[in-house]
Amino acid sequence: MTELTQLLQTLDQILQPSKFKDYGPNGLQVEGRPQVRKLVSGVTASLAMIEAAVAAGADALLVHHGLFWRGQDGRVTGWMKKRLALLLEHDLNLLAYHLPLDAHPELGNNVQLGKRLGLTVTWRFGDQELGFKGQRAEGTVFSGPQALAEHVQKTLHKTPVHVGPAKGEIRTLGWCTGGAQGYFESAIAAGVDAFITGEISEPQAHYARECGVHFLACGHHATERYGAPAVAAHVAELLGLEHEFIDIDNPA
Ligand SMILES: [Zn+2]
Repeated sequence: MTELTQLLQTLDQILQPSKFKDYGPNGLQVEGRPQVRKLVSGVTASLAMIEAAVAAGADALLVHHGLFWRGQDGRVTGWMKKRLALLLEHDLNLLAYHLPLDAHPELGNNVQLGKRLGLTVTWRFGDQELGFKGQRAEGTVFSGPQALAEHVQKTLHKTPVHVGPAKGEIRTLGWCTGGAQGYFESAIAAGVDAFITGEISEPQAHYARECGVHFLACGHHATERYGAPAVAAHVAELLGLEHEFIDIDNPA
């Protein structure tokens, strides 16, 4: 059991949200009860996620995608009303960390994804250094895009969309989890053979074909499943909290 203020302070110390220019508020987004015994982590503060956290007896829910984003019109209607009502009804704290959770050098989405894919980080690139560059830990190469796609499929249980040359050894990889297709150009500039992210948009297919760099869209959710539970498990251990990660599947 810990005070909510202690939990927030600890998370801010670890994730340092003040260092980021983000698309929404980091930290406490919806205030609930002042003491926390059980922390539930998840990817997105969807209604299903909040329902699952309530059912699990959570005092606080820690997610990567919170409720509030730049560009929203601020009305509490429809899905927003339902999610907020459920949080408030159960006095459940909602904590969200977006870019700080992508960026953390040990617990973040990118490093945790790289770990699962067996990649060692050698460099960081792009806006706010959210792009990660590296290679296979054992120094070996992927024989071609098919081998890399199979490796991703086996690890993330999701078949990636590949655009780029049909063959060619892949030694150096760049990656940025989630909707980071916009990092492809800085990944190309960083000299990678292949770039892994969650989503693809129309322009990236052309860049991949024209620059000869492989682009693999591996799922926004699938690539961002690992940071929140890593951070939550870490703070739970530090503060003596119970922790449970709940994965609400998302095909996107
Ligand atoms: Zn995301």
